[in-house]
Amino acid sequence: MKHIEPQDHQGSGHNHSDCIDSALATAETLCVQQGQRLTKVRRRALELIWESHRPLGAYQLLAKLAEEGFNSAPPTVYRALDFLLAAGLIHKVESMNAYLGCAHADKAHKGYFLICDDCHNVMEFNYQDIHAALIAKAAQQGFELRAETIELTGLCAKCKTKVAGASA
Ligand SMILES: [Zn+2]
Ligand SMILES: [Zn+2]
Ligand SMILES: [Zn+2]
Repeated sequence: MKHIEPQDHQGSGHNHSDCIDSALATAETLCVQQGQRLTKVRRRALELIWESHRPLGAYQLLAKLAEEGFNSAPPTVYRALDFLLAAGLIHKVESMNAYLGCAHADKAHKGYFLICDDCHNVMEFNYQDIHAALIAKAAQQGFELRAETIELTGLCAKCKTKVAGASA
């Protein structure tokens, strides 16, 4: 399985069309397995979200779909987004109110995110230990955890290098 570690699918040094191809192939497989249809608008929405590793807002998506002649009425777009979210093909990055393609939709996981302040790329990082620790700590207070939003901001490796280079 590719793309488990964030550094595998980030930065300029990778062939992003591989990310898109692999995401679409996974989507096709998952939809068949789940008896769902990856309709044209769902597929195109997924492709548009995957255009980069920068999350895409619903209204940006709506505008792009409208340009291409899709029925881009908000309910259509939100239904497509709901479908992709429920299928685990995309995540919502809450602090950006935008959607990010998931590179490992075929594995159950929590989406935790590293958000670059500079290029706004978002990397997913999966760290099961955090999940287990949160459940355990919350349980100590008698709290049953239902949702976790972990979104960390900072500088990605590429932007960190750029900043270091500029100040040298
Ligand atoms: Zn990529
Ligand atoms: Zn994910
Ligand atoms: Zn960056």
